[in-house]
Amino acid sequence: MANKYRDYDNYIKEYPDAQGYFGKYGGAYIPPQLENAFKEINEAYATIAQSAKFINELRRIRKEFQGRPTPVYHCERMSNYLGQTQIYLKREDLNHSGAHKLNHCMGEALLAKYMGKKKVIAETGAGQHGVALATAAAFFGLECDIYMGEVDIVKQAPNVTRMKMLGARVVPVGFGLRTLKEAVDAAFEAYMNEYEDAIYCIGSVVGPHPFPMMVRDFQTVVGIEAREQFYEMTGHHPDAVCACVGGGSNSIGMFVPFVADPVEIYGVEPLGRGPKIGDHAASMTYGSEGIMHGFNSIMLQDEQGQPQPVYSVASGLDYPSVGPEHALLHDKGRVKYVTATDDEAMEAFFMLCRLEGIIPAIESAHALAYAIKVAREGRPGSILVNLSGRGDKDIDYVEEHYGCGDNYDFAKLR
Ligand SMILES: *Cc1c(COP(=O)(O)O)cnc(C)c1O
Repeated sequence: MANKYRDYDNYIKEYPDAQGYFGKYGGAYIPPQLENAFKEINEAYATIAQSAKFINELRRIRKEFQGRPTPVYHCERMSNYLGQTQIYLKREDLNHSGAHKLNHCMGEALLAKYMGKKKVIAETGAGQHGVALATAAAFFGLECDIYMGEVDIVKQAPNVTRMKMLGARVVPVGFGLRTLKEAVDAAFEAYMNEYEDAIYCIGSVVGPHPFPMMVRDFQTVVGIEAREQFYEMTGHHPDAVCACVGGGSNSIGMFVPFVADPVEIYGVEPLGRGPKIGDHAASMTYGSEGIMHGFNSIMLQDEQGQPQPVYSVASGLDYPSVGPEHALLHDKGRVKYVTATDDEAMEAFFMLCRLEGIIPAIESAHALAYAIKVAREGRPGSILVNLSGRGDKDIDYVEEHYGCGDNYDFAKLR
């Protein structure tokens, strides 16, 4: 019998441990200068996570500012077109600012405010984390410094404009390859100089403890809502849930509330152009254990333990590692990690546009691509997909490289 009530409390209590380990993964590998700063964040979060005032304020923000709960939607036309699998979406594309990222940015900025900080600092690659954090900073009246490689600043011009309009300072990073990796280094260095007035806000369930736990806690709202909503709609749990995995925040938020249920769970990694090094960012599928960016996990690394080059058509997914909790769930066999290529994601992208009237983020289209694969196998039952974001940010790129979808024929409805 499906259970309407939460069953995952024991799991949450067990992971991570007090040192921030999910089994053997996670931890906090940080320079000694930052040990006190991280201790301060840890203690503040531990206090605040128990505080009724903090929890109530976050609840109010989610409802009144973010527009939560986001709906669960049954894709009837698409399900009929594909066969018998019933596809459902958790509509994080309808969360304010267009993706799940605001869920943890509002939490991180609220923490900064409670800690008496004046500023939030972060890096951004495609600009999505920068925009979400700039939104949160404007809401709370905090300063916001976003470090961004000069190459990315040119490539992601609309997001740079958004950040500036929201009042953030976009700091160009001009050394090395002038992309995400250098931006991480620059942001981290700025934090080392400014930690008394600022906190560093990580954009996924990665980095040193407590970030993988904190970001997970803020994102579980997605799975908690979806689990209840799906149950209300159908009277049972979905047979499977799936979500795309970059760093792993939207997926962990969806997965954790389902860990104790009889539900199959799939994390979908970007296979890009194929399995050759440099052509994909399927870190769990092709990676090995190692330490990078302050935590131990599964990652794509060379013999020296340096991150390998990654690629995906979805810039939000091209990260060479995954959050430590995913590595644990993989080893436990609780979550299966699968892949979708660029082409599979783009077909899913256009299918959702044409059959359901929803333009998804290319990242989210990877999760949908896996659901489509399952449906084509003719499996009965239901699959709940986390639609992590909307595709407005992607339309210019998609039109230039893939057109508007006229080469697909989705007209032949069964
Ligand atoms: C950033 C982003 C992702 C990938 O990040 P995760 O931490 O893996 O969730 C996925 N979808 C969208 C829409 C994004 O903006």
